[in-house]
Amino acid sequence: MVWDVSVAYYGCPYPKHVEADLNEIYESGFTSITLCINEYEWPSLMKTKKIVVEKARKIGLRTFIDVHGFGFFVPSHFSISVPSNLEWCEVDNRGRIYPLRGCPNNPDYRTWLKKKVYEIITNLRPDGMFWDEPSLIVPRDWPNSWTCRCQVCRENFRREHGHDMPEDLTEEVKEFRQKSMFNFLEDIMGEAQRIDGGIVNILCLMPEHTGRYGIYSWEPVLGLKSLNVFSTDPYWIWFNRPFDWFLEWVTRAVNVSRRASVKAQIWVELIKVPSGREPDIYKSVIKAVELGADAIATWSFRAEEGSELSCENPDEAWKTMIKAVKEIREK
Ligand SMILES: [Zn+2]
Repeated sequence: MVWDVSVAYYGCPYPKHVEADLNEIYESGFTSITLCINEYEWPSLMKTKKIVVEKARKIGLRTFIDVHGFGFFVPSHFSISVPSNLEWCEVDNRGRIYPLRGCPNNPDYRTWLKKKVYEIITNLRPDGMFWDEPSLIVPRDWPNSWTCRCQVCRENFRREHGHDMPEDLTEEVKEFRQKSMFNFLEDIMGEAQRIDGGIVNILCLMPEHTGRYGIYSWEPVLGLKSLNVFSTDPYWIWFNRPFDWFLEWVTRAVNVSRRASVKAQIWVELIKVPSGREPDIYKSVIKAVELGADAIATWSFRAEEGSELSCENPDEAWKTMIKAVKEIREK
């Protein structure tokens, strides 16, 4: 029996539509929504997000809040507050500032982010937080350029290593970057549970180990004390990769999760699926559960119909996902 089946939901400012959407999600067999909050929506859309969480709870769906932007989550999403505080920002080895990105080691940026997490948790009272693809920025000329080499990082590095932070991406620098990210994640996830002891922390790391986003190994996941669910999103249909690639990342995620004594969540794409490839959606869900996934999630509701990321045949893609969801719920 799977622990959770989630669907990403952006929310909607019209309560009647929210109710219809959530009823459809519940009746389709999902057990939770992963509710997206972009930084630009907070706090202006706080009330509408609160309505979504409350209605979901009433219907019997859990809500996990997915923070987008806020200086660190989902590489393509931007921040509003971070650019107004340039001293918080990531700086590359050539001294260039990246105004949309917060440095994971910067204490003031962390304080601000914790305040946002506090506002979100205390106002919305969700079941958990979904930490979506935390990452360092990838400069255009990576790996010749890399972040972060801001003043705080240089001071931390010197204290830990006894010498100046190199300008090249040495092994020590790679390790420092990764350690900085996991230290930041432990801090922010721990804060979420300090605010509300019942919060379920779900961490979604991208399925890649090049280190370009800061993380080259999942081993440090084993040391995250506040983690409840480890997650990854191997979107093989969208990125035209072989099914074996998907299976490989599912296996890795399940393996790390077992060793860390946390649940494993696998995301299956409902975005950019070409017409005719809908059976691959079904196959992915079934196989991920067979390989040991405790939870399945999909991005996003109704196959993103109407958006740039829509599946080519959103009705068919959504229908296929529902068929897979019903099947894994019955197991
Ligand atoms: Zn830094």
